[in-house]
Amino acid sequence: MIGIDGATWEVLLPLMRAGVMPTLAKLVDEGISTTLASTIPPDTATAWTSFQTGMNPGKHGVFDFHQYKRGEYYPSFVNSERIGTETIWDILSRNKKKIILVNIPVTYPPQPINGCMVTGLLTPSIKSNFTYPDRLAREILDIEKDYTIITTQESFRNTSLDNFIEELIRTETKRTNVMRHLLGRYDWDVAMIHFQSTDPLQHAVFWYLDEKNPEYSPQNYQALQKFYSSIDRNISALLDQIPRSALKIVLSDHGFESVRKTIYINNILITEGLLSLKKQGFFRQKLFALFRALRKIQGRFFKQMFSFPRSIALVAKTTLVDWTRTKAFVLTGWLYGFIYLNLKGREKGGIVAEGRTYEELRESIAKNLSSIRDPETTNRVFRKIYKREEIYEGPHLKNAPDLIAVPEQGYECSQSFIETSDDIFKKNILGKDHTGTHNQDGICIFSGKDLDASGKLAQAAIIDIGPSLLYYCDCAIPPGMDGRVLRDIFSPEFRESHPLLYEDKEKAPKPADEQDIFSDEDKKKIEKRLKDLGYMD
Ligand SMILES: [Zn+2]
Repeated sequence: MIGIDGATWEVLLPLMRAGVMPTLAKLVDEGISTTLASTIPPDTATAWTSFQTGMNPGKHGVFDFHQYKRGEYYPSFVNSERIGTETIWDILSRNKKKIILVNIPVTYPPQPINGCMVTGLLTPSIKSNFTYPDRLAREILDIEKDYTIITTQESFRNTSLDNFIEELIRTETKRTNVMRHLLGRYDWDVAMIHFQSTDPLQHAVFWYLDEKNPEYSPQNYQALQKFYSSIDRNISALLDQIPRSALKIVLSDHGFESVRKTIYINNILITEGLLSLKKQGFFRQKLFALFRALRKIQGRFFKQMFSFPRSIALVAKTTLVDWTRTKAFVLTGWLYGFIYLNLKGREKGGIVAEGRTYEELRESIAKNLSSIRDPETTNRVFRKIYKREEIYEGPHLKNAPDLIAVPEQGYECSQSFIETSDDIFKKNILGKDHTGTHNQDGICIFSGKDLDASGKLAQAAIIDIGPSLLYYCDCAIPPGMDGRVLRDIFSPEFRESHPLLYEDKEKAPKPADEQDIFSDEDKKKIEKRLKDLGYMD
């Protein structure tokens, strides 16, 4: 299995047609492919966790990179121990299947599996315990002494497009070398590698990939082809290492599209009188503005001299809020709007009464948000506002935001707020902000001898991949899974000799570990990385 973060047909099809990705084109030609629906939100941590569990976020509890700690007005990072249920790796392991995993998001800290793993996104660094078993780390570093978990968008800010591309190519080539080594050295039934670099690249320069965008230029597009061509070569090198007959699955966690503006829901809530700042907040706001201005002027030197970690910034921001006069707020979620109500009995300083008051407030916020228009276009900026119970189900529903606002194409939401004005929009700037954002339409490709040669797949979702993989591996599927087995893609002979098996008893959900496993230093590293990716403000 090959994960390509944020891969979308919009980008891949023209590249395949132009001969830039011949290996992928061959897999598509010989196999079955379709658009793969992501999760709500189409966030990398959420979607890959739904892939790894076959479940909706209400069952696994990962709604975002952050997890909002109830009552504390402060988010913490998700990690593999926060996944509130069994993963497909657990299920494959107890069915005695041998596994190799390289770079799957939200696998840090590494969990014991029947095989080996190198953890992925949200691993603080290779100085952390990034492998299972522990001793594997030595072996990895012997092959690639500066193995890289991720290259972020920050590199693009500090260098040229060509250098950024070179760096991303090096990162994924090192990863491919590690996987080739593991495939050659260890027995395996299921092996998966994940290429993360497509995500920071597309966030940084999606405008260059989008022919309809005014920033599009043939020169930049040509430079980017180099990157996609190297991904294709990596795939080819991996396919050389596995049996021809093996089932190959290529998938992405979400699609991508151009983004023009960021919506600050907290500022909308301030305007509506639902979120209040403390009086002294005004002076602190000015202080923030000064800090930022100084940082801009002094650049790197100032950053080193007066390091101003984002965690402090985030805490400082939440300390600006007057909770005794705040009814609704956004603290987590950067893509879709995650709106929490300051509910009595649930939040430390809750002021919204349960029952009718809560329901009426939710209704009125949803109604107001759906009427918000972009003054430049006069079009609405939210496509849909969901109540959490409309889209999630399971023991973690109680941790979901009370409302989830889905922006229209071309917009993304921020979990922060603009401190110095009443603006609710900010225009995204090339090189500084995202120019690409996630959407629902990921990709999947299946290829291999057990597939139905004439098979077609009209619809599939990322939560379907886990159960389908278990079916292919002759493992019984736990009944709690929300995804369906994509059985139609397999040949009649295969289906006949491989009955669909379900485990009879629903396993009790594993209690998610609420402990924060990250040290302050690790938190800073992860926070910096998410900020560099543009996932935090
Ligand atoms: Zn992603």
